[in-house]
Amino acid sequence: MASISMDNIVKQYGDGFPAVNNVSLDIEDGEFVILVGPSGCGKSTLLRMIVGLEDITSGELRIGDEVVNDKAPRDRDLAMVFQNYALYPHLTVYENIAFPLRLQKGQFSADEVDKKVRRASSLLELDEHLDRKPANLSGGQRQRVAMGRAIVREARAFLFDEPLSNLDAKLRGQMRTEIARLQRNLGITTVYVTHDQTEAMTLGDRVAVLRRGILQQVASPRGLYDQP
Ligand code: ADP
Ligand code: ADP
Repeated sequence: MASISMDNIVKQYGDGFPAVNNVSLDIEDGEFVILVGPSGCGKSTLLRMIVGLEDITSGELRIGDEVVNDKAPRDRDLAMVFQNYALYPHLTVYENIAFPLRLQKGQFSADEVDKKVRRASSLLELDEHLDRKPANLSGGQRQRVAMGRAIVREARAFLFDEPLSNLDAKLRGQMRTEIARLQRNLGITTVYVTHDQTEAMTLGDRVAVLRRGILQQVASPRGLYDQP
């Protein structure tokens, strides 16, 4: 686990207004920060720069004590949970969760893989579904498999990009509760992107409001609510 520290981060795609404009934000180790704002305000771009899928035009990004601007995504030890889950349809739940460990060749014995997968699946209450394929799971269960894949890697932070926007309202409510509980249990640094006000006001320790690439406000959900 680690802190994430952004110092004057800029992303300029073309000649126009920067997609992300001088964002500075320090996220503490174990903190849960919600990044909220209207469509097109730069949320995904900022998240993608943190995870390393997008180059940073200027500014400094640190994970823990380390400047990671030039580090490849896989060397940043972060886990991104995507909106569309990005599960492998031909693999079982077990194999989907185990997949990141199998990529790290020779690093884990079969026993170690098994232990990690079972611990993650029990945490996520997926024990009874380990032999199923993603097509035979509900949306919420698929979401949990995607999180399981992040958990087994023991990543330094979770990054969520609108993870609940494909779910119906009821499931979204359940998953909100579940993600909040899980984040607290794991104590893992989390950045969560959403345009949903309810998620912003109920999930995190702090809410960062982005508008046209500019960080307008950073406050506790309560603090944000109390402002005029
Ligand atoms: P959000 O996630 O808040 O909806 P984005 O980060 O996707 O916003 O986009 C921020 C701005 O940057 C938008 O104006 C978008 O059109 C622009 N943008 C995003 N990705 C690219 C890209 N690859 N090339 C050019 N412009 C982009
Ligand atoms: P999201 O639903 O996450 O906001 P978008 O539909 O905005 O995603 O973007 C999908 C992909 O297209 C992303 O990889 C984003 O970087 C890219 N993209 C977004 N806007 C532009 C743009 N104006 N020019 C080029 N690529 C873009």
